[in-house]
Formats: sequence, C-alpha cells, structure tokens
Amino acid sequence: MSLQQWVRPEILAMAGYVPGEQPAPGRSFIKLNTNENPYPPPRPVLEAIAANADQRLRLYPEPSSRPVREAAARAYGLHPDHVVAGNGSDDLLTMILRTFVGPGERVAAPGPTYSLYPELTHLQGGVYVESPWLAEGGLPVAALAEHRAKVTFVTRPNAPTGHVVPLSQVAELCQATAAFGVVVLDEAYVDFAEDHGLGLLVDHPNLLVTRSFSKSFCLAGLRIGLGFMSAELAGQMHKVRDSYNLDRLAQAAAEAALGRLDLYAPLWEAVRLERRRVSEALRQRGFTVGESQANFVLAAIPPGRLDGAGWTGELKNAGILVRYFAADPRLRDRIRITIGLPEEMDRLLDAVDGLLAGSR
Ligand SMILES: *Cc1c(COP(=O)(O)O)cnc(C)c1O
Repeated sequence: MSLQQWVRPEILAMAGYVPGEQPAPGRSFIKLNTNENPYPPPRPVLEAIAANADQRLRLYPEPSSRPVREAAARAYGLHPDHVVAGNGSDDLLTMILRTFVGPGERVAAPGPTYSLYPELTHLQGGVYVESPWLAEGGLPVAALAEHRAKVTFVTRPNAPTGHVVPLSQVAELCQATAAFGVVVLDEAYVDFAEDHGLGLLVDHPNLLVTRSFSKSFCLAGLRIGLGFMSAELAGQMHKVRDSYNLDRLAQAAAEAALGRLDLYAPLWEAVRLERRRVSEALRQRGFTVGESQANFVLAAIPPGRLDGAGWTGELKNAGILVRYFAADPRLRDRIRITIGLPEEMDRLLDAVDGLLAGSR
C-alpha cells in the first residue's frame, strides 16, 4: 500500500509546472531565463516597503487589498470594484480556474503559450485543449470558439513568442465565446508593448484582464498581480481567493508603484530599446528572431553543431542562463532570452560569437 493512494488521481497524473532555474545564492549568473526586470524597483517603492516593515506586521493585512485596488483604479481609470488583487498573477489565474472550471470542463488557448495554463486546468480536473496560432501569429478565433470552453486564454504579448495579436481579434473572440464562457487576456508583459486591452472591458462583460508586477514593476520577489473584470465577476472571485492573499509589504509596494508609473515608464522604454538592439544583433548572427513586444525574445538557433539544449548548456557554462522548453517539440530549436541590462546583453552576444566561432 502506498501513501499515494490517498492522493487525487488528477494530481498523480500531473508532472507539475517547472519554473526557470533560480541559481543558489552566491552563484553569479547573468539571469536571462525568467523574464525578471534587470532594474531595481524605484526608490519610493523600496521606501514604502521599508516604512511598513514595523510592529504592524503582527496584524493581518487588509483582506481585499483595498488600497491597492483603489490605486489601480486611479492609475488605469476604472472603479475599484472592477479590480481583484492576487499574490502574483499566477494566483489570479488559479482563482479564475477555481471560479469557472469544474471537473470535465474545458479550458482552451492558442499554442504554444504559457505552460502553466494546462497545469492549473488539470488541478481542477478540467480538460485543456489547444489550437495552433494562425500563420503570422493570428488568433484562431473560430477554432478556439469551437471548443466551447468555460475559459479561453489569450496571452498578449504571448509567451514564449513575444508576439501580439490585434485587439480586434480579442474582441471577436469575446463575442464568439460569450454564450458559453469567459476570455482571460493575460497581460503579464503588456507594459513593454504598444497597446493594451483594458478598453475592451466596457463592451465585453465576459472578458477578464490579468497583469503582473513581476516583470514590468521589478517586483517578482514580492508576488503581486492584478485582475480587471466586471464588478459581478469580481464579487465571485473574492469568494475564491485566500482571505489575506496579499501581505502588508506587497500591498504597500503595489500602492506605491501604481502611484509612480512616471518612474517606471523610462525603464520600460529602456527595455524596448534594448530588445530592438538585441533582436537585430542576433539576426545578424544567423538567428531567426520574431517581432517581440515583451521583455524577452524567442530566437531560433542557426544550423550548426549545437541544438537548443546545446546552446542552453554552453551559455550556462559561459555564466548565462537562458530558457529552453524541452517539453514542446515546436520550441526545440529555440531559446528564450530575457532582455537584461545593455552590458549583460553585450556579454551574451560575446558568448554567442564565441560559440559560433567554435561550431564552424
Ligand atoms: C510571468 C507570467 C505570469 C505570472 O506572473 P506572476 O505575477 O509572477 O505570478 C503570468 N502569465 C504569464 C504569461 C507570465 O509570463
């Protein structure tokens, strides 16, 4: 008899999500593997965290993160009743699936995309179905709608490709699915992009938009995310979340960050500039690099001695971590590279030059 007999079959069947490597403290790698922001959080944000690290930590935080939701409402021009805060945007994705998906119900997404969605679906006993992106990266609206899923995900900019679909196609999908489910627009990378989908909420009550503070807000270590949706759906989501899902320090940081978008805008612009430079430099070296609007690029490796796993391993030997998706055959000849500081990207390009010279 095994202890596993008490574990739900859905859990036994899961492999579990594998996040990118976080090196042990003291190992100094250039970290271009988990899309963190290379810049430190702005000083007022760090000061807000420090100002709240005092005796009040013995008290529970505000349960619904009300000050954060009010700050988000001011920053983005909507009402706090339309905002739900999460312990990272992954917490919101979990809450969404717990709210909408029961055993045997479907969750759909275009693929390849964020590999956490199938894991969260399987936790609910749901069925995950994928439709390939159209040629040129378009949203397969008709194919997705045919699944009649309770939840349909659109990641925009998409991970790990970095491409964006036109907002008009997201609107079409909302209409095509309105009779049977909701659409989740995952905007984890949207601050690095040219436009966003919050404006679609007015006309599409079955739309939920999620955002993360891990990438554009330089706060992956604190775990903060935001969800935007109708007040009706937000009311249901509040029943599902952990009673105190954002701690006091995270709430203080999120409120401060939302009040100082002016300090973040130059960081986002610096990442965009560096993304353009690195994309071009990799193309000149024989990589195929699609247009990205995120803080990473997906690069198809040039023909030669090394495959995707080989490049990932050799770059690690050179002190640089990038992300390789071994499990997805469509991504085997590709590596995903986070945009870091210009000097870090110079080190990457030097390492690439060395490996290309060695493989000739
Ligand atoms: C990083 C990421 C998330 C999760 O962000 P957290 O706020 O760190 O939980 C969600 N969706 C996508 C597509 C991501 O890449």
